[in-house]
Amino acid sequence: MLLRLIAFIVIGFFVPLSAYRVVLDPGHGGRDLIPHTLYGDKFDRRLGTYLDKFREGARHKGVWELEVMHDIAARAKAILDLTQTAEGKEKFRKILAKYGKPLAQEGAGGCVAKDGLCAQSPGIQPIEAFISRPAGYYENYFENRDDVNAPFRLYDYPDQKTGALKPGTISRINALEPELVITLHLTHTEAPSVGGMATVITPGYKTYELAHRYVRGGLGERTAIRGKLAASAWNRWFISDDRYKTFSSFMADAFIYYIGFWCKPDGVSTDFQKFRGYRHNLVQWAYADSDSIVESLYGKKGERYATSLAAFEPKGPFWEREQAEPESWRRERGPEGYGGDNHYAGMEVLRFTRKAFVANGFDSPATAPKILKPYISTWAVPTYVNAVAAFVELAHTTSKRDHLRMAKYRHIYAEGVAVAAYSLLYGLDVREANGFPKGDAIDLARYQNLAGGNYFKRVKKS
Ligand SMILES: [Zn+2]
Repeated sequence: MLLRLIAFIVIGFFVPLSAYRVVLDPGHGGRDLIPHTLYGDKFDRRLGTYLDKFREGARHKGVWELEVMHDIAARAKAILDLTQTAEGKEKFRKILAKYGKPLAQEGAGGCVAKDGLCAQSPGIQPIEAFISRPAGYYENYFENRDDVNAPFRLYDYPDQKTGALKPGTISRINALEPELVITLHLTHTEAPSVGGMATVITPGYKTYELAHRYVRGGLGERTAIRGKLAASAWNRWFISDDRYKTFSSFMADAFIYYIGFWCKPDGVSTDFQKFRGYRHNLVQWAYADSDSIVESLYGKKGERYATSLAAFEPKGPFWEREQAEPESWRRERGPEGYGGDNHYAGMEVLRFTRKAFVANGFDSPATAPKILKPYISTWAVPTYVNAVAAFVELAHTTSKRDHLRMAKYRHIYAEGVAVAAYSLLYGLDVREANGFPKGDAIDLARYQNLAGGNYFKRVKKS
């Protein structure tokens, strides 16, 4: 009783007013059903239809991405929930001990009272963990059978009965105002036989601007820009359509980013057959344009809805956000050399996951899943959330070892993810060799102390 009382006083005294928040975001969840105009994703209010099919994710020999990723997220949340109680913190401390020592936090006490004395171990800080979606379409099939994908769409969508707009996953994440989002996927693409993991990253405005300059430039400038991209870390751009080469894939993604349309394989002309929406207007947040602006400016030269990239001008709240410092911190340069804090956060999740397999005796550093090169494209979640966004492919179904890990060792992935979240928010003293986590916390203070207000808390639609 006395111990509990002391614990209560210590906890009650030192817990910050609001704990850091992390959203665990398992990919997919629903089904790719026909017609896409009823069951798809990416609802465009102006056109009154879904622009894309529902992306149901990978399925391979009994391993369903949507199910495994949710299971790992739920287990990681259960581990992070330990930081909410005094007893839980002691369990969490034992887990952390496999990876490193917690650091003393400024203004947070820094030590735990034990037998009336302050022991030499810094306190475990609290984290509020959330999951971005329910388990899977099969869980609530009867409630949602008219629209099985309702709880799983990335973008906002109309209620099938009332037509009222409902928040998709991206809007729900933003409403929670987290500091950190960890998006979890697995993939079918090729991997080494020992398995592989990779981060998924998206650049900031400075890189996309190369494409904007390219379509306006003469031959000399175009050659220079091609050379610049080829010499940069973004030169391994993700090719999602085989008719496009690396540079034209970059151009196609820049077109989507800026004007919502794909470009043709030539990399300069708009493909009017492939419209992917003004994605920043398909979510509910402070950076969306009002419907009246979308109507009045549609297709106009020198405006934000120009239908050629050369005629596009970045006007409005979303494009101000894109050109401001926090987006550059999140998506350019940073501790990994490129990709900003998002890339670092994703890499730490992967490095802690590798470490989890080694620390728990399942692998040696030689057999633990390798970290492959990142997947670079104009991905939605890391672009359209106001949080540091780690996005990872935890496994490749093409590797038998990864497939086995997905079936049997989800608790190990979950531990790696949970410890990474703690380390990214509060830092961890890890002393490890190459390929293992660095343990540095993200510099959250620079986002929190911005002149215009806390970056993480200014995303709600006013
Ligand atoms: Zn996926």
